[in-house]
Amino acid sequence: MNTETGNIYKELGISDKVYQFSKEILDSLSTRFAEIDKTAEYNQLKVIKAMQDNKVSEACLLGTTGYGYNDLGRDTLEAVYASVFHAQDALVRPQITCGTHALALALISNLRPGDELLSPVGKPYDTLEEVIGIRPSKGSLAEYGITYKQIDLLADGSFDYENIKNAINEKTRLVTIQRSKGYQTRPTLSVQKIGELVSFIKKIKPDIICMVDNCYGEFVERLEPTDVGADMVVGSLIKNPGGGLAPIGGYIAGKRECVENAAYRLTSPGLGKEVGASLGILKDFYQGLFLAPTVTAGALKGAVFAANVYERLGFKVVPNATEPRHDIIQAVTFGTPEGVIAFCKGIQAAAPVDSFVTPEPWDMPGYDSKVIMAAGAFVSGSSIELSADGPIKPPYAVYFQGGLTFEHARFGIMKSLQSIVDAGLVTL
Ligand SMILES: *Cc1c(COP(=O)(O)O)cnc(C)c1O
Repeated sequence: MNTETGNIYKELGISDKVYQFSKEILDSLSTRFAEIDKTAEYNQLKVIKAMQDNKVSEACLLGTTGYGYNDLGRDTLEAVYASVFHAQDALVRPQITCGTHALALALISNLRPGDELLSPVGKPYDTLEEVIGIRPSKGSLAEYGITYKQIDLLADGSFDYENIKNAINEKTRLVTIQRSKGYQTRPTLSVQKIGELVSFIKKIKPDIICMVDNCYGEFVERLEPTDVGADMVVGSLIKNPGGGLAPIGGYIAGKRECVENAAYRLTSPGLGKEVGASLGILKDFYQGLFLAPTVTAGALKGAVFAANVYERLGFKVVPNATEPRHDIIQAVTFGTPEGVIAFCKGIQAAAPVDSFVTPEPWDMPGYDSKVIMAAGAFVSGSSIELSADGPIKPPYAVYFQGGLTFEHARFGIMKSLQSIVDAGLVTL
């Protein structure tokens, strides 16, 4: 460790043992990382091509105020997103406040009273329970007379085709498919699998709208769900596609009619996409999208590195050290509260912002146990930046994701390991 880099790791609190252990693991991952780089290369070119094809110009980086009529930059950015996702149209707006808002918007604008929503992949992301009305909430789909059916995945993680078929009826209007496992234990769906499910559903009822919650999945593979038949993809700009630079926002890309419905709901019937000033935000949206393929690749490498570190130490990791990846989330089960806490303290101590604060478990609203969170982000709550959280309850697992650069993700994981070693929870 007697090199300049070794020395600065030492100054940042990394011991010889942690450095060596990490280095050995990283040396074994070069083939894996080369694959990730190849995907990033393809996706980088896809984004550049979309920007060139749509003639992104310097004028596009400026914004409008007031009503935002004739906002060249906004309209061009939406055309760029449509190109990237090989979709007919897109809605990409700072007025969409987060991923949940984008999903809620896509749902409520494309469903009408009397329609039924189907999730053929089990329980959706926590925040969608209130959107749908699984947990009663003001303004839920249930309040508007939109019913919901759910078919869980089979025990081995595959689709329950028989029951999906039986669940589809004359009321079924929209199917929601969550690509990422989110904070569950089921596997994340590959784009190929999503394509198989969409084909199956369309064969039974061709006019069903297939929507994919694309959060954490963008640019992880070469294909996106819209490449394999999905009618809409929906996500957050403070995750993968914002590249860490977007300070807010969400997107919906897909069939023209679906996007139009969403636009009329976001602004107003009669106004749709024509209004919505972009203010000064567009340069960050463009530049963030430009960086997104490589930022996502860095986060993916960090996740693969962590899986290998903690699997080697005997902890259960999901996904495991060798399996293919379809999103950027990594789960590590420590089995003790001390493990979860030490991990999160290490991630926090590696942050560029707020590295000196110590995260503590707290009673977060909406959760049934204490939760500890580590985040030292430039954009508050951004989970494309290195971040981790863990509910303090069995099986004592921590979920972490992000890192705007692989170097930071690597350092964060080394700090987490150092923290766990220092707490006496493992010996190297
Ligand atoms: C993050 C996420 C959401 C919700 O996004 P927010 O921006 O936190 O509202 C929905 N679905 C999945 C799978 C997610 O990962």
